[in-house]
Formats: sequence, C-alpha cells, structure tokens
Amino acid sequence: MRGIISRFAPAPTGFLHLGHVVNAVHVWRETRTRSGTVLVRIEDHDRQRSRPEFEAAILEDLAWLGFEADAPMVRQSERHDIYAHALDRLRRQGLIYACSCSRARIEAAPAAQTGSATNAAGAAVPRAIRKGPAPIAGEADVAQAFRPADAELWYPGTCRHRGLAEGAGIGLRVRLEPSLERFVDLRLGAQEQRPSDQCGDLLVRDRGGNWTYQFAATVDDMVQGVTLVIRGLDLLASTGRQIQLARLLGRADPPAFLHHPLIMRSADRKLSKADGDTGIRELRAAGWAPADVIARALSLVD
Ligand SMILES: [Zn+2]
Repeated sequence: MRGIISRFAPAPTGFLHLGHVVNAVHVWRETRTRSGTVLVRIEDHDRQRSRPEFEAAILEDLAWLGFEADAPMVRQSERHDIYAHALDRLRRQGLIYACSCSRARIEAAPAAQTGSATNAAGAAVPRAIRKGPAPIAGEADVAQAFRPADAELWYPGTCRHRGLAEGAGIGLRVRLEPSLERFVDLRLGAQEQRPSDQCGDLLVRDRGGNWTYQFAATVDDMVQGVTLVIRGLDLLASTGRQIQLARLLGRADPPAFLHHPLIMRSADRKLSKADGDTGIRELRAAGWAPADVIARALSLVD
C-alpha cells in the first residue's frame, strides 16, 4: 500500500482534545509507514455548530504538536458544488427522495427502536449485530465500538413512497437497498455489515439544509482520492454504509479502513471535549510539551 492517501478530518465544533491526538498519531504514523500523503479536511458541514475560531485553534494546536498536512487543507463548507453534483448523480438513478421526519418522530416510531438486547458488557447491541451471523474479528473491539450512547436510529422508510416535494425544511434521503457489505479492517480483520438493517435510508441533507456527515465524508473521500481511512472505533458501524454509498456514487474501489481504539474515560463513555480536562489548549497553558501531550493521549487508550 505505497502511495496511499489518508486524511485527518476534525469537525470544528470544539477545541482539539486528546481523542483527536490519538487519531492524529494513528493517521500520520500509518501513512508515513506507507510513504503516503496525509490530507487535512475540516468537516464543517454542520453550519450551526461549526465555528471559525474552533477551526483556527484546531489547526494551531495540530501544528504545535508537529502534525503537518502534505497538501492544502480543504473545508466542507466550501464544497457545496461538489456535494450537489454527487447528489445529482444519485438523483438520476432515482435514489433520492424528500423526507420531512424529525429525529423525534423517527425515535417515536415503534419500528425504529434500537432494542434492548445487550452484549456481554451490558451495552445495547444494534439491530444489525443482533440479527446478523456476527462473523466478526476482534470482537472485544467491536463491542467497545457499540455503546448505548452510540445506539443509532434506524429510519423505517416512512417517506419513501410519499412523493413529498423538496424545499425548505425538508430533508433528502438516499435509498439503501438491502446489501451485505464486506470489508477487511486492517486491524480488526474481516467485517460484514448490513446498512439497510443498521440505519435504513441515509440522510444526505438534513432539514436545516446541511449536508450530512455520512454523505459529505463519503463524497470527499472519493473525490479527494482517499485510499486509506484511519479513524476511531466509534465510526466502525458507519463503514458499510459509506462503502455502499460510494458504490452508488460510482466509486469502483472503496478505500481501505483501519479503526483504532479510543480513549476510554469509563466503561461506557468515550472521551470527549465535554470532559474538560483533556483540551490541548489547557495542557499547553499548563506548560506541557508536545511529546508529553502525545504520550498522555496514548497512555489513555484502552
Ligand atoms: Zn421521512
């Protein structure tokens, strides 16, 4: 896998924290090992939550830590035309429909419940994992990736055949027909996922007019020629749907994937900026050196 292209893709909805640092270490190390190229992509698709000051701080902290991109940074907020073009491609295949459902409405639909089945760790297990044959390598890691906080909504296709008109306040979804997506995670081994059972038809644009994470990231990975996606286990469940979506968009060969362990604060909560004491800003202000911050981040990984 020489000459690969990977990416570091933070959302500027908060400051850089130790969880980001763990991801950056994996991205740069795995990519440098393969003589590859690291792209930095600012995932500011959520216009309500993204802030320029967070972006500036993230990039500044990243540079202070010594992580340097190999190409000019891109911002999702400046790539509207690229996403619109990709949407047209799906639309021409008859795969796009308007959806007026709010999250609350989907949550309230009985069929959308994520269920009460639990795994050995007592964590809720998503439908697809409950129903599937579970031929999954690295099972402890997979269990870790699915915690109650991450239990996701399954969209039951309520608006598929309603023929709603598109417009302000209306979302757009892409049909995901039943499909078994197989891929080999470079760390976990062979994986199988059924996106239509896990999440149902994917939201492409939300009711507020924002391109969604799933859609924007998939389009970007394709258009930017990303060949190796290195990210945390919390995104493992998104991989099958992104492979399926990329295929619908015309991508012949999906990228390779590597999902790394996360920093765990407790048994059932992934570390986040909400934890306060993990901000790189704070550690810098307290006199930490870059190498110490990186060592601290890696020491917290499960
Ligand atoms: Zn709907």
